[in-house]
Amino acid sequence: MKVIDAVAGLRAVHQETGRPLGLVPTMGCLHEGHLALVRRARSDNATVAVSIFVNPAQFGLPYDDFSTYPRDMESDLSKLREEGVDLVFAPSVEEIYPGGFETSIDVGPIADKLEGKSRPGHFTGVATVVCKLLFIVRPDRAYFGQKDAQQCLVVQRLTADLDLGAEIVVVPTVREADGLALSSRNSLLDTEDKRAALVLYRSLCLARELWRQGEGDAEQIRRQMRSLIESEPLARIDYLSIAHSKSLEELEIIDRPALVSLAVWIGQARLIDNILL
Ligand code: AMP
Repeated sequence: MKVIDAVAGLRAVHQETGRPLGLVPTMGCLHEGHLALVRRARSDNATVAVSIFVNPAQFGLPYDDFSTYPRDMESDLSKLREEGVDLVFAPSVEEIYPGGFETSIDVGPIADKLEGKSRPGHFTGVATVVCKLLFIVRPDRAYFGQKDAQQCLVVQRLTADLDLGAEIVVVPTVREADGLALSSRNSLLDTEDKRAALVLYRSLCLARELWRQGEGDAEQIRRQMRSLIESEPLARIDYLSIAHSKSLEELEIIDRPALVSLAVWIGQARLIDNILL
């Protein structure tokens, strides 16, 4: 496994890279959710590259939890070695954003809702870094998790609009046995927080159950989800949404494929999760 920290170093290995090449962009502190993307990439491609970069541009000023975001490079590299990854790109902030860097990418309305509304500038940072990574690594495919459903839509819009040429593959959310979606931020939860965090998935299951029983009124479902979450004293809702799965326009009636998504604070951690109806 080659570990490369410079853009120039990566360009030098392009010629010898077997195709197709799959890229898994990550912010490190890798868990089974990331590894599901890596395994999918491994089975689809001759060469697998993983990037590890905690992108300051996608954290709000003054950098949200950028400084406290968990990092563990040694353990990440050993996990990736075990998965048979060929190439790791782990640049410094200065390598990606050298002095004088000015460009940013605005993906439009899809990036303004939900996460984009709660974290202004977040998707501009995501789009800019994903665009750079796709230009630097030049993969045939790039892998993203359904856990970050809106990010998948933003990246799909970006790659289509700018003809970036990579196929975007979306991999289902990996959960703990109790339903908690795996996330690097879960390491910020203590035992009590972890118990409280189960309310996210429970509320999503409630939504699915109500919908299966024939409830088509989105506001009825939102109301019941909200009341379940509010019954958990450690949980504080940021947003709760039932929206068209492509446009992310809020739905009144669930008459189209819907994304049920939410962001909830549990202690110091802001957790997100979603399901599709
Ligand atoms: P991150 O390191 O949090 O930026 O995540 C890197 C990639 O892994 C993103 O495409 C995420 O959507 C994906 N990912 C994170 N957690 C999970 C999970 N529990 N299941 C599937 N994919 C995930």
